[in-house]
Amino acid sequence: MSIGVDFGGTRIKAGVVRDGAVVAYASVATPKGRKAVLDAIAKLIKSLDKKPPSVGLALPGEVDEQGVCWRLPNVPGFAGVNIPRELTRRLGCPVACENDATAAALAERVFGHGTRERSFLLVTLGTGVGGGLCIDGVVRRGRHGFAGEIGHVLVDSSPSALKCGCGARGCMEAYAGTAGVLRVNRELGGKACNLEQVALAARRGEKAGLGAMASMGKALGLGLGSLQNTLDLDAVVFSGGASASLDLIEPALRAALRERAFAAPLAQVRLCVSALGQDAGIVGATLIGPVRYNE
Ligand SMILES: [Zn+2]
Repeated sequence: MSIGVDFGGTRIKAGVVRDGAVVAYASVATPKGRKAVLDAIAKLIKSLDKKPPSVGLALPGEVDEQGVCWRLPNVPGFAGVNIPRELTRRLGCPVACENDATAAALAERVFGHGTRERSFLLVTLGTGVGGGLCIDGVVRRGRHGFAGEIGHVLVDSSPSALKCGCGARGCMEAYAGTAGVLRVNRELGGKACNLEQVALAARRGEKAGLGAMASMGKALGLGLGSLQNTLDLDAVVFSGGASASLDLIEPALRAALRERAFAAPLAQVRLCVSALGQDAGIVGATLIGPVRYNE
């Protein structure tokens, strides 16, 4: 694949990728409505290459092996839509689709920490908490494309557990996603409006910022503890804006991990920040076909 697209809920980004590097780049705000979104993606790709040989697309949701969306939680109108087919019709070339976190895991596998760590979970931190899973050197998608989606593991089973965007209570995402972190910050008297402001407050030593980052770390550690007891990973790789604050999150994360891990080595899993930065989705999108089937 020569062109990778990172289709997000707020922006669509596309790039021409050579040897794992984005050499040409274009982006546009995500419009409203299914047809407008599909047309915008096709137009963006054509602005980079009038006749693209092939395209890979990372999208904010899950697709089955045929490219049919289950649904996109933050972009209405895509349930049951075959996105590759729609884009092939507009572009006249093959299009491959994958969940964005799984695509980022592909990029990490080929160009980042995955060149050294055989088994890792890539965790995307942002509005939600997503994940892509690589086991023994192979990025796994599972039966329906949901493999590695750690955001909805249970971290609080009490009746007062926070409600998650998915409709359930006590999910990791309800505590470690942006809304959950801001809520704790507010309860402790903080005034931050986004995760960067929470992190800055924590760096200034403010109680509300420190408490919110600790609460986020604890939720991540509880969830990752259960996962570690199942998978025995080499590393957990964090990506997304909040990954820059890993040092602030790590103490509470590690403490919760130690509490949950049933054997000491499981709690010593390496925690690191993605080597791909903002380009992980675009680069990963260009790897969707070859890596997935190259076992
Ligand atoms: Zn949930």
